[in-house]
Amino acid sequence: MARTGNKNIQAKLVVLGDMGTGKTSLVLRFVKGQFHDYEESTIGAAFFTQVLSLPDAAIKFDVWDTAGQERYHSLAPMYYRGAAAAIVVYDITNMDSFERGKKWVQQLQRHGNASMVVALVANKSDLESNRVVENEEGERYAKENHLLFFEASAKTAHNVNELFYEIAKAVAVAS
Ligand code: GDP
Ligand code: MG
Repeated sequence: MARTGNKNIQAKLVVLGDMGTGKTSLVLRFVKGQFHDYEESTIGAAFFTQVLSLPDAAIKFDVWDTAGQERYHSLAPMYYRGAAAAIVVYDITNMDSFERGKKWVQQLQRHGNASMVVALVANKSDLESNRVVENEEGERYAKENHLLFFEASAKTAHNVNELFYEIAKAVAVAS
């Protein structure tokens, strides 16, 4: 019997942020449930798909990870063209990465679709003793700019599933 009210949604999800913030690690944690201490800065495949089921929708994410282009602090607009969602990652132990994260957000707000769901992620929450970006700073910036916000750790998996689940919910509402 056909199920009613169940949506199948395909959503492009792009991951932005400075090199070394843990973009690839977050994607691999989400897609494969794995973490590597020495993630190679460029990996072969920068494209993954993952299905996430919500109570009334299934979201098939096409996840675009950068393969090092982010070192030039800008990405071709085609990278985020058509994206339903974006994750901007910074590292709580690196203030520059937070400042750069804000620039990535501005770039998205200038060039991305107006309906794009954007999540700001403060990664490496396991490195609390090396923290330089306070939780409240990230939270405040996210609130002012209407972004979802999560502190997370690709290493321990803290908040990683929650992050993608909340993005999926927001994408489902928007589509
Ligand atoms: P990318 O350049 O943004 O893709 O960053 P990577 O995913 O390659 O990660 C850069 C480095 O940070 C690697 O050595 C990772 O193992 C490490 N890393 C990534 N996420 C975390 C995390 O949540 N906690 C810790 N302690 N290290 C992390
Ligand atoms: Mg990477």
